[in-house]
Amino acid sequence: MVSRANKLALWRLAVVLLAHFVALDGGVAVAAAKPCRSPSSASVDDAGCLSWRVMVEANNARGWRTVPAPCVGYVTSYMTLGQYKRDLNSVMDQIAAYVDIIDADADGLDAWVLDIDDTCLSNLLYYESKQFGAYDPSAFKMWASKGACPGIRPVLELYDTLQYKGFKVFLLSGRDQETLATCTSQNLESEGFSGYERLIMRSPEYRGQSSSMFKSAMRKRLVEEDGYRIRGNVGDQWSDLQGDFVGDRVFKIPNPMYYVP
Ligand SMILES: [Mg+2]
Repeated sequence: MVSRANKLALWRLAVVLLAHFVALDGGVAVAAAKPCRSPSSASVDDAGCLSWRVMVEANNARGWRTVPAPCVGYVTSYMTLGQYKRDLNSVMDQIAAYVDIIDADADGLDAWVLDIDDTCLSNLLYYESKQFGAYDPSAFKMWASKGACPGIRPVLELYDTLQYKGFKVFLLSGRDQETLATCTSQNLESEGFSGYERLIMRSPEYRGQSSSMFKSAMRKRLVEEDGYRIRGNVGDQWSDLQGDFVGDRVFKIPNPMYYVP
């Protein structure tokens, strides 16, 4: 005879086992019923803007003049809600790992080249106010003239590390030297970028040249005339990082806001 207490225990065991199998079955069922997002459903959500940004960062999309209208909201979110900072920090981690394993020679000729706009100094406030529209040289010049671009903190940390390790840091910018040299150097100074080896800006003879050509010419001068070895090169545009004498390693900082040839 099965006692009343044993019957109760058996019922409890049965209920527990049943619940366990239902949970297992349910888990499998849920997993099976929840397919991976198809590319088509993802593109409906972000209007293809994630793909567009990846194309931009990989330098597959070239010559674009403005963020595509359906992607303005996406780019705003990307730049302001955390993903840009996470991506930037990931790049900076890669740079830090490289800097860790190289040393500056005592001859003082090991150099790094850093771009300025959206590498050392941020123009996000300006481009956001313009809804990431087409490049407007006079409006940008007014913005830059204020000398109020915020410094990009993780790049400043790299900058300090490079100087601490004895590398010569050259800041290379396509900004117009005649009109923006003073406000740019003041802006850099106020944001902590001081003690660099040289600030190189676009002199009148290079006006109208692509950034890639201008920067190649400046790096060529550093290497061939001054004898520097460019150990690293950091910029937010591929035109900072391609051409001649680009350096031993190049690092691309994210920027889906605009394209500079
Ligand atoms: Mg730049």
